[in-house]
Amino acid sequence: MLKSLMKQGLNAVDDLALAADRRAQAPDTLVNVLFHSLYESPAHLGKGELGPNQDVTVADFRGFVEEMLESGYTVVSPAQIDAGLPPGGRYLTITFDDGYFNNTLALGVLNEFRAPATFFISTDHVRQNKAFWWDAFSRALARSGATPGEQKIEIERVKTWTPEKIDAFLCERFGPSVLKPHSDVDRPFTPPELRQFALNPWVHLGNHTRDHAILTNCTPGQMAHQIESCQHALAEMVGYRPIVIAYPNGNHSPSAVRAAQDAGLRVGFTVAPHSEQLPLSDASRMTLGRFLFFGGQDIRRQCRLFSARFVPSHALKRLMHPAY
Ligand SMILES: [Zn+2]
Repeated sequence: MLKSLMKQGLNAVDDLALAADRRAQAPDTLVNVLFHSLYESPAHLGKGELGPNQDVTVADFRGFVEEMLESGYTVVSPAQIDAGLPPGGRYLTITFDDGYFNNTLALGVLNEFRAPATFFISTDHVRQNKAFWWDAFSRALARSGATPGEQKIEIERVKTWTPEKIDAFLCERFGPSVLKPHSDVDRPFTPPELRQFALNPWVHLGNHTRDHAILTNCTPGQMAHQIESCQHALAEMVGYRPIVIAYPNGNHSPSAVRAAQDAGLRVGFTVAPHSEQLPLSDASRMTLGRFLFFGGQDIRRQCRLFSARFVPSHALKRLMHPAY
């Protein structure tokens, strides 16, 4: 109750900031937006196969791309960011994290609008057909009667651990089959599917570490291993080493950035909700901000908030999560 009142209050303050904002048409900006899963249609929502997520349907995704293009954005790939974006433009990067097979549902929209997107893959999930732990944990907690709010709290607690510790904890608490995917909704790509997917001209792949390791929980040696073995696995599976990384959960540090650069990565994404002013500095190129897009919410309003100079709820989130 209190939380929903606070959310309503923040929304109202965001709307005031939006009304006062004059930057909506400002050039020389790069907006990056983050998706995870896509659902085929609203009928597929709320079945509990995935943990709490952004509830984005293909129609929501299509509406988002259409709205951003109509607002004058050019959709760009990581290589275009790396090469330097021409002055005077407004640019958008579309990103999907983790490596869910359901991301193939994006292809129709990408082909239709000729829009590139970058898909960040945690490669051991692909190689081992292993469910993402937050989905598995959430399903197991729901079975024991936990509400979505309680599931979120438990998931946040576990995020301070290494991947090995999380897997061991889940298997011990719920049995070894807990990390088995349920269906095409929650499973990762298989290696042949990923190879095929990567052949699409609008698809770019990026590094999301081998085991979705939250890098700030790792030693420098573990960081280097997680990033390098993901680069190696992608080269084996799809034939190239990416130039771009998304830090799992957005958590990064100077040593995580260094480990990424040492593995040959030239562009990095966090989940700090802010846009970028162009030209990018060398430091900001490795720690680009990204916004989350949510299904079932006003598409145009969300897109306008991505372009705004100051959004109170985004500033609050940055204050609460400095590691993002
Ligand atoms: Zn992730």
